[in-house]
Amino acid sequence: TKSVFKFGGGTAEGDAKQKELLGGKGANLAEMAGIGLPVPPGLTIATHVCAAYYDAGGKLPDEVARDVLEALAFVEGVTGKHFGDASNPLLVSVRSGARVSMPGMMDTVLNLGLNDVTVEGLATASGNERFAWDSYRRFIQMYGDVVLGLDHYLFEDALEIAKEDKGVTQDTGLDAGDLKALVGRYKAIVEQALGWPFPQDPHEQLWGAIGAVFGSWRSDRARTYRRLNDIPESWGTAVNVQAMVFGNLGDTSATGVAFTRDPSTGEKAWYGEYLINAQGEDVVAGIRTPQYLTKAAREKAGAKAASMEEAMGQVFTELGRVFDLLEGHYRDMQDIEFTVEDGRLWMLQTRSGKRTAKAALKIAVDMVAEGLISEAEAVLRVEAAALDQLLHPTLDPKAPRDVIARGLPASPGAASGAVVFDSDTAEQKARAGEAVILVRTETSPEDIHGMHAARGILTARGGMTSHAAVVARGMGRPCVSGAGSISIDMATRAMSCGGRRIVEGERITLDGATGDVMLGEVATVEPDLSGDFGALMVWADKHRRLKVRTNAETPADCRVARQFGAEGIGLCRTEHMFFEPSRITAVRRMILAEDTAGRAAALAELLPEQRADFAEIFRVMAGLPVTIRLLDPPLHEFLPHDDAGFAEVAAATGLAESLVRRRIGELHEFNPMLGHRGCRLGITYPEIYAMQARAIFEAAVLVAQETGEAVVPEVMVPLVATPRELEITKAVIDAEAATVFAETGTTLEYLVGTMIELPRAALRAAEIADHAQFFSFGTNDLTQTTLGISRDDAARFLGPYVEQGIYPKDPFVSIDEDGVGELVSLAAERGRGVKLGLKLGICGEHGGDPASIAFCERLELDYVSCSPYRVPIARLAAAQAAL
Ligand code: PEP
Ligand code: MG
Repeated sequence: TKSVFKFGGGTAEGDAKQKELLGGKGANLAEMAGIGLPVPPGLTIATHVCAAYYDAGGKLPDEVARDVLEALAFVEGVTGKHFGDASNPLLVSVRSGARVSMPGMMDTVLNLGLNDVTVEGLATASGNERFAWDSYRRFIQMYGDVVLGLDHYLFEDALEIAKEDKGVTQDTGLDAGDLKALVGRYKAIVEQALGWPFPQDPHEQLWGAIGAVFGSWRSDRARTYRRLNDIPESWGTAVNVQAMVFGNLGDTSATGVAFTRDPSTGEKAWYGEYLINAQGEDVVAGIRTPQYLTKAAREKAGAKAASMEEAMGQVFTELGRVFDLLEGHYRDMQDIEFTVEDGRLWMLQTRSGKRTAKAALKIAVDMVAEGLISEAEAVLRVEAAALDQLLHPTLDPKAPRDVIARGLPASPGAASGAVVFDSDTAEQKARAGEAVILVRTETSPEDIHGMHAARGILTARGGMTSHAAVVARGMGRPCVSGAGSISIDMATRAMSCGGRRIVEGERITLDGATGDVMLGEVATVEPDLSGDFGALMVWADKHRRLKVRTNAETPADCRVARQFGAEGIGLCRTEHMFFEPSRITAVRRMILAEDTAGRAAALAELLPEQRADFAEIFRVMAGLPVTIRLLDPPLHEFLPHDDAGFAEVAAATGLAESLVRRRIGELHEFNPMLGHRGCRLGITYPEIYAMQARAIFEAAVLVAQETGEAVVPEVMVPLVATPRELEITKAVIDAEAATVFAETGTTLEYLVGTMIELPRAALRAAEIADHAQFFSFGTNDLTQTTLGISRDDAARFLGPYVEQGIYPKDPFVSIDEDGVGELVSLAAERGRGVKLGLKLGICGEHGGDPASIAFCERLELDYVSCSPYRVPIARLAAAQAAL
């Protein structure tokens, strides 16, 4: 198989469709070269070589090395320069490029090919001695860090000292002689640390860099990133070796990054940053503060330094032409890297730009209006899970704000939390349940776990395309970057800004949409669900087949869910109502009763309460289907576990404390999740289910009479394992229905069904279906019982399980298709086999997970049911699954 692919000079051996083979960067470089854009020539080593490299024990296979040299000769031909040439040397960049972008996660080496001899050649050929030595010192620094594994602070310290000695603050204050001396110091640092000199042979440099890029695929930070983003370990990265072009040749050179639309808001405006006389990493690293691309953006920000539009008008026009061409070609917002070498534009990268959910939504809806994409494509363009970012409250514009600092609005959304200054602390505190804001001078890829744990991120340095900004947007975390007035003192763990001091643990609020940093917590308002959001949802609803219901038990939750578009209730967990302060005592009296009569008396007290609950839900749901599940948890969940609690219960129920203790002791179970719960309660205490059924039917009759509209309750029995359990409990339900209908003189249609949440129930679905009018898959318990993993304890050990690929994703979040999924599929088939049109739904947590929803679509279930805030996610995911 072909392993090395060439591009540049007006041709390319690959194209944008070959991301699996060439990685995202390589595929898009090939595409750009193929459509005639100015791309420096280069070669891509295919992703499959990554595995071969590891299999060979960290070595490039010989035939691949041969092909690399052959492709390098092609690059020499296009550029007219030679690798290692003493008079006019070809320099290359070596970069990673996985199938999906992993910003900042893997390694890059620039200016490769420089040594003590070629640096002189570069100086002569470019006529710029300072540039040549600056490139060499950058190369040693990067190579030393990335390939040789030396701490980059060693080099940075030497650079700082050189600037101090010279009395300058900017790198640009150092002249050729200073940089030459610095190169000497850098080489000494390498030799001292390693015991051998910095490699002078360009080919040795090249193999070292290629190896380091492949090696970085398995770095800790890359692994963490993959775990957080569900990227398989097996994909591997490609390596791109490309002729260098230089943005640091002087004031007619520059480098920049740009988005064809605003990645935070989606606004249709070119958006980006550039730096004159700089190399690419200077922009991203946030070391020098970049300048705006357009005049409008500069003016809006009130910045002084000239925008690219003003400073380099002609190249800017050319760049704009390329932006339009790329957007039209890819029909999507592009994230672009470019370099201007002595007035000439070069494209170094293009890819679909990462964007916030808000921007994704706006761009998709705008592009439909612009005729670039269809409605169905727009539906596919917005990641369903990311909608979550839009459904939560934002800061109330009218709430008072004590603004202590201002930075760039790097990633929108509002976040409040306790200030922490390092990522490990952020992770620890978040794990303990605390909301934290990670505050750093600047972030690096090592901060990824802290950024993930934090509610929001604040940095003192760095622009809109800094690491913090890019990663925060990708994660959906609010971020304010480059708040220059903040200085952090790690010794006292405090930050100061504008004369105020804030110690670790104090609470602040970030507004990622304005860049405001505020002391304390600021009030929030509910999101706007009309506009673009509404438009996309209309398109989604046109294309989906699955119905979307909600899991809700309070009228308030039901209202929220309806606003979000829920088409019914798929799971009303009645036990939640038992915890209400007004009824918990009656519930406890019922549980503690020693005989049926005692239980009946307590249940009689609960009946009107339950009836009122259900009536209110039927009213809110106004004729939409409502599935009410009978009592499920073991009874001791309603009882206290400590002395104070026992005394309290005794006082409230009027029972002797000794009796309370004895009953609680009797109810104790070693394995409550597999104990006396679900329909087992209904079998042993039929009066409980009878009361609940009566309350449901009385409420249904009441509301039907009130409104004159039909109410069709769906009564659901939990934790059924055998057909007989359902047969017995169904008889109790039917008897209550008959009684209520006789008493009220009103007959209603109703359904009785069951949860399928035990493996045995799935296997015996055919017989169970004889007694059921619907099945609802309780994939929480079904996962727990199929995998034999306690849903309440799994968090302690599932992390390593997922990391090692034992389960591809957390099976309690995304359905385990091979195991649990097979049981669901089999039960659906067997159930429908005996009862055509048996209604099938899912009400476990998986009902709101896009991947699991796609699975439900493949099984042609009738509906999914999820928590209210996930209803829009489910609507969109269902449409995407159907498309
Ligand atoms: C389930 O088990 O999937 C379910 C929906 O019920 P619960 O989470 O209440 O056990
Ligand atoms: Mg369950």
